[in-house]
Formats: sequence, structure tokens, C-alpha cells
Amino acid sequence: DPQGAIEQVGRLIRDIPDFPKPGIVFKDITPLLGDARGFRASIDLFAERLGGEPLDYVVGIESRGFIFGAALADRIGAGFIPVRKPGKLPAEVHRCEYQLEYGTDALEVHRDAFGAGARAVIIDDLLATGGTAHATGQLIRRLGGELVGYLFLIELTFLNGRRRLDNAPVTSLIRY
Ligand code: AMP
Repeated sequence: DPQGAIEQVGRLIRDIPDFPKPGIVFKDITPLLGDARGFRASIDLFAERLGGEPLDYVVGIESRGFIFGAALADRIGAGFIPVRKPGKLPAEVHRCEYQLEYGTDALEVHRDAFGAGARAVIIDDLLATGGTAHATGQLIRRLGGELVGYLFLIELTFLNGRRRLDNAPVTSLIRY
């Protein structure tokens, strides 16, 4: 049952206080990844939430979005597109800069990753302020893709990241 599966997955996520800096509680998913049943249950849940909606691509955000995204793409018979930190992708890219608490960061995608009209879903392990996912949504738009939704394993609801992702439905499996 889905609720049991969500609880099973939730038990495999641990809090690491003050990582990577004081005051941040890092949600560590490595126990989930290392648990064969738990990891599969998380992919089952993502696939279930998509409800058989036809999709061409799963777009994963570096780096934990790659792990869930690649497994999900394989499961649903979609291609996988990596969105990466600057300077990692070898061919021509689109770049989207976004604000951090202090300064800016950027994400890139290959310009020829897919053609206009392709149906894509974005996936990452965790939604915090939404800046990362929002920038990824902009990259999909630059490619002319049809953004079907955003998927997250974990949502930190108190940061209101969902509010920034107003161009497609947001799905999260576990909320804190
Ligand atoms: P944001 O752009 O603020 O929504 O941050 C989301 C990105 O930062 C995701 O790629 C997460 O993996 C990572 N992240 C932010 N906060 C945390 C946290 N508390 N624990 C683990 N990862 C986090």
C-alpha cells in the first residue's frame, strides 16, 4: 500500500545536523539508496504518481536527481537528461543563473538535449527554496519542452519552494 511504502522510504532518510554548514539539517538519502527494497519502493512511488502519463524525458538535477531520475526513466521507458553545474557538459549548452542566499549559481543543459514539444518531468531529491528546480524549469522552456511536472522525494514545506514552481504541478513523496 502506498502509505506503507511512504513510511518505509521515510524511515530510510536521516537527518545530519549542521551539514554542510551550521544551522542546516541535511536530509541524507544514502541509507535509502543502499536499501534495495526501499530504493525500489521510492521509484515505484514516483512511477505511480505519474499515473501512466505519456512522457518523453525525465530531467534529473545534479547530482542526487540523477540517481532517482535515471532509475525512474528506465522504469517508465523515457530518456534521461542531465541538468548539470556549469562547465560539466561538453557540447553547446543553455545556461540559467539563479540566486542563492549569498551570490548566484547556474545550471546547464545541452542545447540539443531534446526537440521542441517533448514532454518532460523534472526530478530532484529535495525541494527547499525552489531556486534550483525553478532554474531547471526555465531550461526546459528554453528547449521548447512541455513541462509536465516537478517530482521530489522530499519537500521542506516551511521554505515555500512550491510557490515558485507555478508553471507545472509539484509532487513530493515526503514532507517535513
Ligand atoms: P533549493 O534550490 O533551495 O530548492 O535547494 C534544493 C537543492 O539543494 C537540491 O538539489 C537539494 O539536494 C539541495 N538541498 C537543499 N537543502 C537541503 C537539505 N536540507 N538536505 C539535503 N539537500 C538539500
